[in-house]
Amino acid sequence: ESFASSPIKQHQILVCVRKRPLNRRELNNCEPDVVSVPNRELLVVHEPRKQVNLTKFLEHHNFRFDYTFDDDCSNAQVHERTARPLVRHIFEGGMATCFAYGQTGSGKTHTMGGVFTGKQQNCRDGIYALAAGDVFEYLRHPKYARLGLTVSCSFFELYGTRVYDLLMPGKPQLRVLEDGKQKVQVVGLTEEPVANSDDVLKLLELGNSVRTSGQTSANSKSSRSHAVFQIVLRSPPINQLHGKFSLIDLAGNERGADNSSSNRLTRLEGAEINKSLLALKECIRALGRQSPHLPFRGSKLTQVLRDSFIGGKKVRTCMIAMISPSLRSVEHTLNTLRYADRVK
Ligand code: ADP
Ligand code: MG
Repeated sequence: ESFASSPIKQHQILVCVRKRPLNRRELNNCEPDVVSVPNRELLVVHEPRKQVNLTKFLEHHNFRFDYTFDDDCSNAQVHERTARPLVRHIFEGGMATCFAYGQTGSGKTHTMGGVFTGKQQNCRDGIYALAAGDVFEYLRHPKYARLGLTVSCSFFELYGTRVYDLLMPGKPQLRVLEDGKQKVQVVGLTEEPVANSDDVLKLLELGNSVRTSGQTSANSKSSRSHAVFQIVLRSPPINQLHGKFSLIDLAGNERGADNSSSNRLTRLEGAEINKSLLALKECIRALGRQSPHLPFRGSKLTQVLRDSFIGGKKVRTCMIAMISPSLRSVEHTLNTLRYADRVK
């Protein structure tokens, strides 16, 4: 079965899973691949278990999602099914979010930010850049060209409860204000006008370098923060918000469960990550149930993304759960899949 022949789904909430391939280290260690993707909606985890009499057996866990992406899928293929329909949605005047969820090392940044080759991250083939590329295509489409929309981007990071502007290195943390009329504002957040894909790539490169700078191990800090890249469409004459697309590279979900650290700050961060991932799940579920009450105050993340969740039918979201195929990660993989399973 190939994706090319199947129709593209247009659900208000889309939940997908992407399995990454075994990496070189895992292959060298002859680690078994415990995940199979029999078709494009089904995924099976083969968990080795021991019975009481110590005989070994495999327990097969079946999961069904809107799409299951096997390890041979490219970012472009994932993008086509997940983010691209949401780009269209914001041109229609909607609000959209796309989340990359999963444990550290499962492929969130690879998918959203772009493929790593050596030390370099190639922003061009991440979903951030692919979505921005689509935006400029839609902008030229006769149906939308007449609207005279302008495009701008923001890129920020949520680290614990602190918000940092990734497009303004060195700037102190930003404040989040609620105006009492359901509007939430990140005060002073850079909203940089962009005219083409090259402009966007420059912003992504800047933001990525800020996100990981000053770290000995590039992944340690970024795995404890949520990165939010936003594409904003505004219409003349008063620059009114037309549509907004937020693409989020979430903190590693294993961090939320980590209470073992002796460092108080790390534990607090872990607690906030846990809170934010739970609140996110509840917000998406509330959206799916058409519930008027959204528990967005449950965390900084959901508070900041509040305007992307209210608006009823004008709101759409996509969750891409990333999983590792290796036996070592099987517990985390099952946790990730159970979370994704409960989002809808
Ligand atoms: P995360 O952001 O979830 O912590 P990364 O995106 O940094 O994980 O991925 C961890 C490693 O696995 C990186 O070296 C990345 O290049 C590699 N990787 C992730 N997903 C894929 C994939 N689909 N194909 C090939 N390599 C991948
Ligand atoms: Mg990452």
